[in-house]
Amino acid sequence: SSDKIQNEFELKIKEKGLDKEVKVVRTGCFGLCEAGPIVIVYPEGAFYSHVKVEDVEEIVEEHLLKGRIVKRLLYKDAVEEDTIKSINEVGFYKKQKRIALRNCGVINPEDINEYIAFDGYMALGKVLTEMTPEEVIQVVKDSGLRGRGGGGFPTGLKWEFTAKAQGDQKYVLCNADEGDPGAFMDRSILEGDPHSVLEAMAIAGYAIGANQGYIYVRVEYPIAVQRLEIAIKQAREKGLLGKNIFGTGFDFDIEVRLGAGAFVCGEETALIASIEGQRGMPRNKPPYPANKGLWGKPTLINNVETYANIPQIILKGAEWFRSIGTEKSPGTKVFALGGKINNTGLVEIPMGTTLREVIYEIGGGIPNGKKFKAVQTGGPSGGCIPADLIDTPIEFDTLTELGSMMGSGGMIVMDEDTCMVDIARFFLDFTVEESCGKCPPCRIGTKRMLEILEKITSGKGEPGDIEKLEKLANTIKSASLCGLGQTAPNPVLSTLKYFRHEYEAHVNEKR
Ligand code: SF4
Repeated sequence: SSDKIQNEFELKIKEKGLDKEVKVVRTGCFGLCEAGPIVIVYPEGAFYSHVKVEDVEEIVEEHLLKGRIVKRLLYKDAVEEDTIKSINEVGFYKKQKRIALRNCGVINPEDINEYIAFDGYMALGKVLTEMTPEEVIQVVKDSGLRGRGGGGFPTGLKWEFTAKAQGDQKYVLCNADEGDPGAFMDRSILEGDPHSVLEAMAIAGYAIGANQGYIYVRVEYPIAVQRLEIAIKQAREKGLLGKNIFGTGFDFDIEVRLGAGAFVCGEETALIASIEGQRGMPRNKPPYPANKGLWGKPTLINNVETYANIPQIILKGAEWFRSIGTEKSPGTKVFALGGKINNTGLVEIPMGTTLREVIYEIGGGIPNGKKFKAVQTGGPSGGCIPADLIDTPIEFDTLTELGSMMGSGGMIVMDEDTCMVDIARFFLDFTVEESCGKCPPCRIGTKRMLEILEKITSGKGEPGDIEKLEKLANTIKSASLCGLGQTAPNPVLSTLKYFRHEYEAHVNEKR
């Protein structure tokens, strides 16, 4: 419907003769899915939500022609008595800090000039003209940025390993194969601000000594793919990709490679195999991609959100980045907030923000006055955190200590009516489907776990089933070849840890 709303605005604005004064800009996602489609009218910053095609005429007539804000269409939290709040004052955004999402909902992602107007490609210019590759790597190391794809490995170290690896040819890869159910952080960045990723990849290319980059993006993201293609073309036309960038003699180009939607291709060695044209299956590590990656050459892989942070770190410095978040997890993290929560959407919060702040202040609490029961973080690799740990600060290490993980940023909220055994079964069902089948613990073990879970949830559980499930989960965790299998038991293990009584109730119910 956004297409229709945009067309209607353009039509009505023209009809009223306002097309010289008013510009309609199509941006990427604002994050607040629950309130969409969203229209913001500047300079007032009036934040209209749930806009329909039929509302366009009234906004044009009243707001644009007569200067009267259409209060009935303002977002519920965007007006207090007679004061109109700007988007940053609205509860959903107030506690957020947008670094990776800084341009989403702000610029037209199909116009490179808008990206440039917001300091775009300045960081690339700075590194190419003022910094050595070693200095660039040092800034990324000093910033403390950790991989946002889930692992949390220090990004600067990864860059350093790849820079030091011996090879006549090196590659920079972007992992945009976001596959967690309900997660769309990377998709939003690519759709709303594709140049930030291209710029960061070129910076990485300079830092590690690579001239070619590939973005591996899932084919289910057609708008992201289209906007990336447009962005690459525009960057080449402006001389910001390709030969002799900024006249410095540095060459760097990027191509898009499409993934067919296999979750396992988000694992770096499977992703590399897929780009090479082989079946996307993980392999043993070492050797790590930093030494032996794409076509056997040293390869740097980071995910979309990690790259989106880089230009700001270069421009504003490592100290600035470290001043946000926590000591061990500097910066911010983007989460896809969903489930039983009032404000569903995409949120970017400083690390160290508590689950309570996310759920009650940003997320607006649980619908229908229900009680909060648990939150699942990390998608199928993560786990469930119960209500009594709601004051946990969100950072890589705290979530892992609780038996969950940051993952790529899925955050699903559950209320008092949710059956935790069902949740564990849902995620396990997903990993069973997505297991590539290469190693038996994951291929066979997760299937056996699912069978036990189905037996329990259908009321056919027997004494000893829970113990069997737990033993199997721990074996799969330690014996699987790649991250998919090693983390697949997490939803079961974390629910067994905090909600064992629910498993027992299912088994006892039957007896
Ligand atoms: Fe494939 Fe699972 Fe083994 Fe990973 S753990 S290699 S996904 S079978």
